[in-house]
Amino acid sequence: MRDPRYDVLFTPMAIGPVVAKNRFFQVPHCNGMGHAMPLAHAAMREVKAEGGWAVISTEECEIHPSGDLTPFVEARLWDDRDIPALALMADKVHAHGALAAIELTHNGPTASNLFSREVLIAPSHQPSKYGYPTQARAMDKADIRDYRRWHREAAVRAMRAGMDVVYVYAAHDLSLAMHFLQRRRNHRTDEYGGSLENRVRLLRELLEDTREAVGHRCGVALRFATEEMLGPEGVELAEARDIVAMLAELPDLWDVNVAAWYNDSVPSRFAGEGAQEPFVDFVKRTTSKPVVGVGRFTSPDTMVSQIRRGIVDFIGAARPSIADPFLPKKIEEGRLDDLRECIGCNVCVSGDNTISPIRCTQNPSMGEEWRKGWHPERIAPKHREARVLVVGGGPAGLETARALGQRGYEVNLAEARRELGGRVSREARLPGLAEWARVRDWRVGQIRKMANVATYLDSPMTAQDVLDFGAEHVVIATGCHWRRDGYGRSNGLGIAALGAAPLPVFTLDDLMDGRWPEGRVLVFDDDYGYYAGVAAEALRAKGNAVVLATPDDVVGAWGGYTLEYRHVRKRLAALDVETRVSVNLVEAHASGVVLEDLWTGRRESVACDAVLLVTARLPDDALFRELQLREAECRDAGIGSVDRIGDAEAPGMIVHAVYAGHRYAQSLGTTPEGEVAFLRHFHHAPGQA
Ligand code: ADP
Ligand code: SF4
Repeated sequence: MRDPRYDVLFTPMAIGPVVAKNRFFQVPHCNGMGHAMPLAHAAMREVKAEGGWAVISTEECEIHPSGDLTPFVEARLWDDRDIPALALMADKVHAHGALAAIELTHNGPTASNLFSREVLIAPSHQPSKYGYPTQARAMDKADIRDYRRWHREAAVRAMRAGMDVVYVYAAHDLSLAMHFLQRRRNHRTDEYGGSLENRVRLLRELLEDTREAVGHRCGVALRFATEEMLGPEGVELAEARDIVAMLAELPDLWDVNVAAWYNDSVPSRFAGEGAQEPFVDFVKRTTSKPVVGVGRFTSPDTMVSQIRRGIVDFIGAARPSIADPFLPKKIEEGRLDDLRECIGCNVCVSGDNTISPIRCTQNPSMGEEWRKGWHPERIAPKHREARVLVVGGGPAGLETARALGQRGYEVNLAEARRELGGRVSREARLPGLAEWARVRDWRVGQIRKMANVATYLDSPMTAQDVLDFGAEHVVIATGCHWRRDGYGRSNGLGIAALGAAPLPVFTLDDLMDGRWPEGRVLVFDDDYGYYAGVAAEALRAKGNAVVLATPDDVVGAWGGYTLEYRHVRKRLAALDVETRVSVNLVEAHASGVVLEDLWTGRRESVACDAVLLVTARLPDDALFRELQLREAECRDAGIGSVDRIGDAEAPGMIVHAVYAGHRYAQSLGTTPEGEVAFLRHFHHAPGQA
């Protein structure tokens, strides 16, 4: 059972009139399902309640059509008809003894109104935030009265939906309550603008309104950003201290963090566990009310330390609760080696930002609780006795071996190298990616406990080896390699200029295998993921000068979805990595390359000693193809199926490999070949079941 050191994490604490059973608090987080997929959303939150979190919050919840967040899919409480979808979640959360919380918001100039087509509103006239060529109009006194009324009505609806904690939201630069605080957004000259007292007025009124409306039944929480990292244009720590002092006892709970989202949910490349402490540690000293803070906490010792040192009362978590919905239960049951720690890749964030249901690298069931009936801890037992051979111990092979092992199959995992983990082990040695090894470590830890899973290192398998092994099912998870010919999105015939090899050409595999270029390196990125930026950083660490060139109009565009973009640009700038965008590589000579601007056609010679290509990958599927050709021999050997998964099927990110491994294990013997049952939300005509 649990270590007494962690007892403090399991003591109850009141939030106004309601009591949280322990200190684990799932703070609001987006999930790309929201109001559009209420069943899927409720099931995802329910699994966390089952996993022991004392408080489970919704994502931000729109309170009015003039604060419509389309295309982002968040929660919605525009009128009474939105109540049942949220009641569904509250009921499921209550069924496991947890409290349900809701984060009410009107996003003012950071909304879009693309769906409602209403005019945006803001403290003062200003452009809308997200690049739409529109402006928000300044709110007059009647607008402020309306806004307060919408917020009050939404709070009452939230209470009727069964919510136990109702948030006032003034964080992330995403809500009017925060916009009124910001000098850059609030240029008003009335009692709502100018002095700090005036800029805080609306937030104070919202807190009072919410307490009056629902405070007898619900805890009133304030989510508040203490620092925006924007200097005097934004909320700054010094001013935040005054604001917390002014409002100290008004909410029942302070939920504090830094803004904007990219500073709050920082990827592990750029911030470790507990990184927000210096920005929020003053809050508990200023208020007698409980405080929740976040910091991608996965270590129970760090959590206890945060509470013991008086930094927070509740351990807030979004990502750690996504990677392991059962984190509290595992700590409670003393199963620390079962904790599935978040790796800080922000693939979860990319779900919301690509307007698709949430996904997680570490937890392949995330977002699939309702759609596919997957559960992070439970899986159906084997359909019958069977022996499975998994070839390749990367994330795909490890996850499929683990999940098949959990189902009770006899699993044999053969890995060519002397270490498990495949790409995860290799990439984790690149700068900033060390935490990614958790994908390997958790799976290896689980497999080690299973008597029915055998692992063989140093075991490169040939087709004949597979035939001789004689398993009933064979899974090929042999990975992929980077192309050396320049083929990619922009060069469908490869880069001919590099064919004659006038200067050394490298790929990421070379770096990961310890073959490094000398001198000044041109990194050519036609992939747009995280690899080119990481490679540039790795080369700088080795002392190489680096030019990063890409045919795309921005550097590392994918990082925009994972909140990495700004951090990557700052890091590359700090490392003196030169960047060239909108260029293709058209000529190569012994002393450099020629880049051609895609829009002007102008050519530029760039001196370099080597080129590092980050363009595209090819599956390592020779073993799979040979087994396909030897189908009759496979049949004779008693092999019923041969499948390829992960990067050996189609190269992707680690999340895709883990998912592929899990999908295979879930479907073996349970669904028609290759299919995975998949629920969708349908609208029914009145009277139709
Ligand atoms: P994925 O991301 O799909 O899991 P990885 O590249 O991470 O792919 O892992 C593939 C693993 O398969 C690597 O560790 C590699 O060494 C191993 N591998 C490749 N070919 C063979 C083979 N023929 N026999 C055993 N292991 C192999
Ligand atoms: Fe953590 Fe990555 Fe999962 Fe998000 S997707 S919860 S960052 S492991």
